[in-house]
This record gives sequence, C-alpha cells and structure tokens, in this order.
Amino acid sequence: MTNANDHLRTKEHKLEIEEAAELFGGAGVARPEIEDSIRELLSAVGEDPDRDGLQRTPERVARMYDELLAGYRVDPEQMINDAIFDVDYDEMVLVKDIEFYSLCEHHLLPFIGKAHVAYLPKGKVIGLSKIPRVVDLFARRLQVQERMTRQISDFLETTLHPHGVGVVIEGLHLCSMMRGVKKANARMVTSALCGTFSNNEVTRQEFLDHISRGSVGIHF
Ligand SMILES: [Zn+2]
Repeated sequence: MTNANDHLRTKEHKLEIEEAAELFGGAGVARPEIEDSIRELLSAVGEDPDRDGLQRTPERVARMYDELLAGYRVDPEQMINDAIFDVDYDEMVLVKDIEFYSLCEHHLLPFIGKAHVAYLPKGKVIGLSKIPRVVDLFARRLQVQERMTRQISDFLETTLHPHGVGVVIEGLHLCSMMRGVKKANARMVTSALCGTFSNNEVTRQEFLDHISRGSVGIHF
C-alpha cells in the first residue's frame, strides 16, 4: 500500500448489507416442519403453544430460520460471477469492519461481530460490494467461527487465485455470554492467512496494522 487513502478501500457497508438482505430473500418462508418442531419445543419447555402470545410464534420462528440460514440456498460462485474483473492492480485490497450475524451450530444461539477481509490481487479483483456479501453468505449458516473464517478465505483463494488472502474475524458468542459459563471466552478472534499473508512478514504486518488502526475491538 503506497498511499493508505488511495488504496485502503474501507467504506460504509450498510447499503451492501441491505442489498444482501434482499438477495437472501428478506422475510423468509415458514416451513411447516420447522413450525411443528417449534410447537413441540414450546410444549416441552412447559409452555402452552396455544396461548395468545405464542400462537404465531412457531410461524415467526420458522420464517426467521429461513432468513437467518439463507446461506445454504445461495451459490457463492453464482453470486459473484458477474463481479470478477481482470485488472492490473497489485496493491492490497482490504475491506474491514464488515458486520456479520451468524448462529453457532452447537447451541443455535447467535454469534455476532466483525470480519476483516484482505487479498493481494494477481490479475483479478472482485467488486468491493461483493466481499460483505460473501461474508454474509457464509454467516447465514449454522457455523463455528473457525470454519466460517476458513471458508471465506478459501472461497476468495479459489475464485481469485490471488498472491494471498487474509481474513480476521472478531466474534461475540451469546452461548457463552448468556449461559454464564466461560464468560471470558465469549469474545473470540480467529484468522485465516494464506499465500503472502502467511509467508511474507511485511504483508501480514501491513494487514494486521490496518485492522488494528482506528478499531478497538467490537462495540455493541
Ligand atoms: Zn455455542
């Protein structure tokens, strides 16, 4: 990066996140199998699924899961195939502070946070607005944070064949926070570094410096 202002391509992601919500189908569809199982769950915890406040809960929850897990239905390659460009550009491309919302596969509770994604192009770049979508796509599945980090990195690696990819994710896990155990482990940082981000100290340090600059962890 010769000039941080020119090349450090950070930007507001609100728009992209809204676009992604559209892409992933907005309100979602209520599948009857999920509705039925939520009714059973309500009974099993000692509730009356037919009382006023709960009558529409199974339908709402079914819709919600359809929306939160929409990442299973979107083909990542199809999502980005019109946004890969041949460009003679070899500076680091970095998109940081990408908000994400995912569900931990161990407890079906949210983990939320920020992803920082960078790569060093080798002839191909991806439209900047697509990177938050890639994060969103992998977040909208039942996940563990380590795997999600790796999947985002692997996807960019296979799609762009760049000199290297770096992904760092900071997440807060509600399953640790709400259950009152292991509170110290509620915040988690995972990383996946490949190519020059893994074997070139200068590239890696540049990436990590840009991430830590102006960002002091996650605020909610
Ligand atoms: Zn969990």
